[in-house]
Amino acid sequence: MKICFMTQSPITENILFGKTLEELKGIAASLNLPAFNARIIAEWLYKKNVRDVHQMTNLSKKAREALSKDYTMGMADPVKEQKSADGTKKYLYTSSSNKFIETAYIPDRERATLCVSSQVGCKMGCLFCMTARQGFQGNLSAGEILNQFQSLPEKETLTNIVYMGMGEPFDNLAEVLKSLEILTSEWGYGMSAKRITVSTIGVIPGIKEFLDKSNCHLAISLHTPFNEERRKLMPIENVYPLDEVIAYLKTFEFTRQRRVSFEYIMFKGINDTQRHVQELNRILNGIKCRINLIKFHPIPGTQLKGSDARTMEYFRDSLNAKGIIATIRASRGEDIYAACGLLSTKEIVKPAAPDF
Ligand code: SF4
Repeated sequence: MKICFMTQSPITENILFGKTLEELKGIAASLNLPAFNARIIAEWLYKKNVRDVHQMTNLSKKAREALSKDYTMGMADPVKEQKSADGTKKYLYTSSSNKFIETAYIPDRERATLCVSSQVGCKMGCLFCMTARQGFQGNLSAGEILNQFQSLPEKETLTNIVYMGMGEPFDNLAEVLKSLEILTSEWGYGMSAKRITVSTIGVIPGIKEFLDKSNCHLAISLHTPFNEERRKLMPIENVYPLDEVIAYLKTFEFTRQRRVSFEYIMFKGINDTQRHVQELNRILNGIKCRINLIKFHPIPGTQLKGSDARTMEYFRDSLNAKGIIATIRASRGEDIYAACGLLSTKEIVKPAAPDF
């Protein structure tokens, strides 16, 4: 399978929400408004919950009229909601091209995590993923990524954001970085970067730029330490092999302020043996990290099965015994298909890919 990384950014010229301070300064200049108006607009967009330019009451009437003539705000409520018995919620938003964007809200005692999408569909073709069945439908703009947060009914309860929904974030790097800048800047939402994690399947140029331009945590979808197995599960292995990803990570110093973690979905009889523990121990030697072991929820049309609870616990304990911090991530929202892609793909499923 060939993966093409060249995709267009969405067209968002006339939408205010999702613009950085620099972009807002450009808009102010183009409308002959004073530069300080940009900060005022950012404040209304990201700190106050207004959806109408005319509510920006500390802008001059002239500024409001000029803005509303050429720009729309760009926030939109979810169009559908599903609630799991465990409190997890799945929201569907619509993109500018009328495609579905999935977002999962996961409350857990004192934490509440939002899992956002960065693309509609995905071109990476991971064998175990329902979003992959949609194929690639388009990149989300920074505004469309942030709207999943801004228009969330539970927004005020959120403690963490993870970019682990539909799409590969580093295949839409410019818009993802822009959304992170708005989330973490003092003129934006002012969130701590330590509360945000971006997950990738290992797009090396994206990892480099992300580590250079943001302070958020990084998660790598690993799933097996063996190249041949990984190639079958994740075609990205043909483009950016895991050993090159790991070699690059070893050149970067992660700290408590900025962590790297590895996601490891456990497939019965495929990646859950002691051979895998030994190899994980070998390749991760020298990286301060954690492994999140994830139960696989079978998707339609695959013979892949999830490892059982005992196997997962033994795997976790074996890693811990070798000094690798490993935890089993609790399953959430199974009854509403909270894992990325399952809900929106129901309507547009492609035939299943050949199995492992
Ligand atoms: S697992 Fe992530 S990168 Fe792979 S196909 Fe699914 S959405 Fe894309």
